[in-house]
Amino acid sequence: MNQIRTQPNIAKRMTATIVDYGIYMTFWISYVYQFGTPNDDGGYSVNGWPGFVLFLTWFVYFPLVESYKGQTIGHMITQLRVVTLNGNSITFGQSLKRRVLDAFELLGTFGFIAFIAVKNSERNQRVGDIWAKTIVVEDIHVSCQHCGEQLALTAEETIRRTFDCPECGKKNEN
Ligand SMILES: [Zn+2]
Repeated sequence: MNQIRTQPNIAKRMTATIVDYGIYMTFWISYVYQFGTPNDDGGYSVNGWPGFVLFLTWFVYFPLVESYKGQTIGHMITQLRVVTLNGNSITFGQSLKRRVLDAFELLGTFGFIAFIAVKNSERNQRVGDIWAKTIVVEDIHVSCQHCGEQLALTAEETIRRTFDCPECGKKNEN
């Protein structure tokens, strides 16, 4: 069986992380100003239900969207996708595992640990990917041999080298 080829894609992965956490931090800051109460340190605190909502949005944005779509917004922009080692869709649990380690390998060390892991692991995995048994791949774009429609292939279709065109229904082989 063909193994899915991976690449470090460091620049794309960094861009995706900056976009995703940029969006999340922007939301976080505006939310805290909206629902927070000034505290003794001159900052704002969010407690109770509003605090829980803030916590919940991380789960919705990262593990939920990533496992449902295979991509976050940062991944869509950089055309990256998170898949299982065999190229299938990941589960919520897998995304949760790799995302829980974001704090450690991406944010806590400014991406240094993730960088070293991606550069040195056989399948370009960061620590969270090794734990979750996931890999990050690039979307592959092809045009249908029959109708010329532009299509993005899944990693699974790329390995199989055959797929049915959703536009004209005809089989493509290469
Ligand atoms: Zn077609």
